[in-house]
This record gives sequence, C-alpha cells and structure tokens, in this order.
Amino acid sequence: MQSLTSRAKQVDRRPMTFLERIYVWEIFKGMMITLKHFFKKKATISYPEQKREFSPVFRGLHVLNRDEEGRERCTACGLCAVACPAEAITMEAAERLPGEENLYREEKYAAKYEINMLRCIFCGLCEEACPKDAIYLSETFAPSNYQRKGLIYGKPDLLIPDPVTKPEEYKKALGNRANQKEKEN
Ligand code: SF4
Ligand code: SF4
Repeated sequence: MQSLTSRAKQVDRRPMTFLERIYVWEIFKGMMITLKHFFKKKATISYPEQKREFSPVFRGLHVLNRDEEGRERCTACGLCAVACPAEAITMEAAERLPGEENLYREEKYAAKYEINMLRCIFCGLCEEACPKDAIYLSETFAPSNYQRKGLIYGKPDLLIPDPVTKPEEYKKALGNRANQKEKEN
C-alpha cells in the first residue's frame, strides 16, 4: 500500500535475539540518555528561591497608580472598562469633596474599582486606553486562590502604596516595567 507520508517506516518483523529479549541493551541506552542530562544545563529553576528574568514585554498584576504626592490618579472615566475585551473591569465614580484634594488628583474618582482576574487576559489594553497613567500592568503575578471571589480584585488590592509615606513599598510595586515605560515615552 502506498504510504501517506514520507515518514512511514518498515516494521522489522525478524524474531528478537536473546539480548533483545532481555532488554539489557535497551535499558542501558535509556540510562545513557538519563546520564547525559546530568551534565547538561538545567532547563528548570528552583522557584521560588531562584527567579527568572522577565521579558521586557511581560504584563502581570494591575496596579492603580498614584501621583508623586500620593493622590489617586484614576478619574473613573471608564475608558479602561470600554477598552477591555474581556469586560473584566467595573467601577463606580464619585465626586471629590472639599478637603479631599490630597487624596484624589481629579474632581471625579473611582469610589469602587474592580478587576475580575478570572476574565482578564493580561492584554494591556486598559493601560493603553488610560489617559491619566492611572493603571498599568506590573511585573507581579496575580496570586492563585481557591475561591472565585478571591480573584475579583478591588481597590485595596490594586492601589499602589503611597509614595510619600511608603516609598520603599511604592518602588517595589512599581517595578522595572514602569521605568521602561517612562523611557519609551
Ligand atoms: S489587561 Fe486586558 S483583559 Fe485584563 S483588564 Fe486590562 S484590558 Fe481587560
Ligand atoms: S484607570 Fe484610567 S482609563 Fe480607567 S477609569 Fe481610571 S482614569 Fe479612566
């Protein structure tokens, strides 16, 4: 019969020799392959003690950013939610009250801001759509959770630490990706 591909192989139907029947040679060949891998560079790493370098285009957990005075940048315009192809973002807007100028940069702010991480595909369109540089995808992984509701992140989970009162935490949450973005702009 004509073979369908050029990869077809003829089956050797000769009776096996004694050596072939006890499989010693085949086991030895298999062990040699295993042994060879002891001296090769490992493809795996000992996570979490060791961590891999992220790709410059890696997009991880979202961060709601603050300005240099620690005020929330988000103005609840909804552009990120409109841009989101997974419909993962929901928010509720509120008016800034007199005396709250040190908390919110704009006259309108997001009283509630949620991202459903079970829907998010980490495409970064929300970041691109934002006119206030208020949201970006950091280099942190979204942690796993056994509960669905634990993967709906609210403002307390997303808001970056205050750069005035917690500069170290702020810098850590900002990560390298923010610096790269700044250089590109
Ligand atoms: S990264 Fe993409 S999918 Fe996730 S919230 Fe932003 S726009 Fe939606
Ligand atoms: S994160 Fe940006 S795009 Fe989304 S509501 Fe806030 S200001 Fe608008």
